[in-house]
Amino acid sequence: MTSTLESPAPAQPGAVREVRTAIIGSGFAGLGMAIALKRRGESDFVLLERADDVGGTWRDNTYPGAACDVQSNLYSFSFAQNPDWGRSYSEQPEIQAYLRGVADRFDVRRHCVFGAEVTAARWDDTAQRWLVSTAAGEFSARVLVSAAGALADPTYPDIPGLDSFAGTVMHSARWDDTHDLTGERVAVIGTGASAIQVVPAIQPIVGSMAVYQRTPAWVVPRTDHPVKPWMRRLYKLVPGFQNAVRAFLYLFREFLVIGMAKNRRFLKPVGKLAKAHLHRQVRDPKLRRALTPDYTIGCKRILISNDYFPAVAAPNAELVTAGIQEVRPHSVVARDGVERPTDTIVLATGFHVTDLPIAERIRGRDGRSLAEVWADGMVSNRSAAVAGFPNMFLLVGPNVGVGHTSMVYMIESQVAYVDDALRTMDAEGLAVLETTPEAQEAWRSLIAEKSKGTVWLAGGCASWYLDKHGHNTTLWPDFTFRFRKLTRQLDRENYVGVPAGTQSQEVAA
Ligand SMILES: Cc1cc2nc3c(=O)[nH]c(=O)nc-3n(C[C@H](O)[C@H](O)[C@H](O)COP(=O)(O)OP(=O)(O)OC[C@H]3O[C@@H](n4cnc5c(N)ncnc54)[C@H](O)[C@@H]3O)c2cc1C
Repeated sequence: MTSTLESPAPAQPGAVREVRTAIIGSGFAGLGMAIALKRRGESDFVLLERADDVGGTWRDNTYPGAACDVQSNLYSFSFAQNPDWGRSYSEQPEIQAYLRGVADRFDVRRHCVFGAEVTAARWDDTAQRWLVSTAAGEFSARVLVSAAGALADPTYPDIPGLDSFAGTVMHSARWDDTHDLTGERVAVIGTGASAIQVVPAIQPIVGSMAVYQRTPAWVVPRTDHPVKPWMRRLYKLVPGFQNAVRAFLYLFREFLVIGMAKNRRFLKPVGKLAKAHLHRQVRDPKLRRALTPDYTIGCKRILISNDYFPAVAAPNAELVTAGIQEVRPHSVVARDGVERPTDTIVLATGFHVTDLPIAERIRGRDGRSLAEVWADGMVSNRSAAVAGFPNMFLLVGPNVGVGHTSMVYMIESQVAYVDDALRTMDAEGLAVLETTPEAQEAWRSLIAEKSKGTVWLAGGCASWYLDKHGHNTTLWPDFTFRFRKLTRQLDRENYVGVPAGTQSQEVAA
């Protein structure tokens, strides 16, 4: 971990530290943005990170079995490929080590302020700057880039009695490594992407395990394997070869979009593969039925695992589909009245995705927070800018999510767009750059049009991809190369620029 000596000094009490750009978060997105700035010689920026290290998702998700669902050759920065990946799908420690290594290689740590949870960010229209309050002091920034993550803040279910539980409660994203589960009676709540990794990892050591399932997931085999030493040597000697593998993986995964967003017929082979996988791994017809989804494959994230079904079918495990009625101090009671004595509850219940906590903390020109502006659903221009929030950009904001491929590809697309916005400000001598409500509306319509008929909207499931109105405000509903094309450079015509030395009102007049 970095010593605080290497970090920029936090603002002194009462003092406000001025920077050109303040980036919130140091996961893939925050680091990617910082590296883009550094690569073109910018150094007047800080990364404000609430934790004590870089890494984001991969620093926080340390639960047993945590691993990537996308091959590492693709789930990594295009400009910092790693010939040394130990497995085709890396596990959390290796990805976290990779991100720490990238931060060091590009000398980003000197810009990080750790322990700097952003509690408020307010646009000052007179100063034409963002005033950012953090746990490590105040900052004044010309530009604010939020890279606070879409899967960064865990959600805790509203189950009667959960607070009264006398044993241990852990969210998968806030795992307590010191807690020994050996021999315990464990309840796992949730059967999404984290649950299907944690269940097989702890099943062999726990005394008994009840997996509480609301909706079964489609699961396909995981083609994970160690990377052979000769392959690693080849990647090192011929970087072009690793590029080719990456390109192949990218294209292969884009084929899934045809089935998900264009023509559902193309998903049929994937559905067949998932069904065959379940049939091969689960012999008990009753359990098999309970694990069979009733919605179209792809509607929720397709999960990959070779050991989830065997773990649920193991003698010390039980799949509970009755729903949870209440939690008592030493047990969990299902809706069918069965009470199961429990020592530890593992919450694999996901994250605040459509109600991002950072949105409550950022206030724009008229004093309203992003959350207030987004009360009816998240809107933006190019998934990056919001009218009324000048000089503010979002990374991994609305409609950037992807279920079929690497988020890092999307993040790199967004970083290029924001970087172009900053270069445009420099080139034109602008103090303020703000997108228009019309551009935002056009982007919203484009997303709504592209989402029509896709498996996410019409696949017959309720998923965290959709907001409370059933609108897709999280996923990019098309090929990812189309997103890259649309965000390749700033759509300058959709922005109003205010030259330095001029007030916004003068331009509006
Ligand atoms: C368990 C898990 C597995 C995943 N697997 C995959 C996968 O296989 N493939 C894939 O493409 N994607 C996967 N994802 C999605 C993953 O989140 C993204 O790929 C990517 O890591 C997101 O990076 P980010 O920088 O946007 O956000 P994050 O990595 O979440 O980083 C956000 C950072 O912002 C900081 N922060 C948040 N709020 C504040 C605040 N108020 N003040 C200061 N700092 C703040 C956080 O501490 C964090 O460090 C997975 C996610 C999870 C949770």
